[in-house]
Amino acid sequence: MIKEFTNAPEAREFMYEGKAKKIYTTDDPELVRIYYKDDATAFDGKKRGTILDKGVVNNRTSGIFFSYLEDNGIPTHFQGLVNEREMITERVEIIQVEVVVRNVVAGSLAKRIGLAEGTVLAFPVLEFYYKSDELGDPLINESHMKVLNLATPEELEIIGGMALRINGLMVGFVEPRGLRLVDFKLEFGKNSKGQIILADEISPDTCRFWDLETGKSLDKDRFRRDLGEVEEAYHEVLRRLEVGLNG
Ligand code: UDP
Repeated sequence: MIKEFTNAPEAREFMYEGKAKKIYTTDDPELVRIYYKDDATAFDGKKRGTILDKGVVNNRTSGIFFSYLEDNGIPTHFQGLVNEREMITERVEIIQVEVVVRNVVAGSLAKRIGLAEGTVLAFPVLEFYYKSDELGDPLINESHMKVLNLATPEELEIIGGMALRINGLMVGFVEPRGLRLVDFKLEFGKNSKGQIILADEISPDTCRFWDLETGKSLDKDRFRRDLGEVEEAYHEVLRRLEVGLNG
């Protein structure tokens, strides 16, 4: 079931605009309203474009994943979909670390450790990147995170454990739908109670999905690498995720 938010609080003040989303306050201090845009960027913003209806696909895709993860015991910021492009989420302070989980070698990992793209990893690999446009989101280790006060060792333990559980759940969800989850990026936040919860989005912008049979990329790599059929790929992922869901 995809959670919907009926009688959603109206957007009040514009808070923040990221590369793919805009965030607004509401009259409820605990809740924000997120609007998903069609803007696409890659390579630290050096490549820019528009992917028609990306915002619609990513809003709904995120809603599907967050609802499924919540149903399986993962705390998330997701409160429900409002309309095609908007969702209500719990207000959090984002932890300035991008958490990447990998099942198959692709992208920057191929360059970093020299294994060929497509090599299946013996176990999921966990990586942390410092969210800093100025530094170009560098790979960092636990010691760096501690010294930068990005997260305490206890918080890191929670984040790492959650990221790996999320990976297992997501693989179990997408594989029967004909998708291989190659790798993906997560962001976590802290709510007003100090609890660490999953935040941001889960979509073809933030995950690599390959067709299980053909290996065809069905994600943002089609935009990054000018592979064509970008919109079609986003819609195809959503179509497959909707299989077996009602509501
Ligand atoms: N990713 C992301 N945002 C980023 C960087 C990476 O969502 O700023 C995702 C990306 O879509 C992929 C995974 O994280 O699913 C690993 O990306 P990688 O490190 O291979 O970087 P890339 O090759 O995309 O630059």
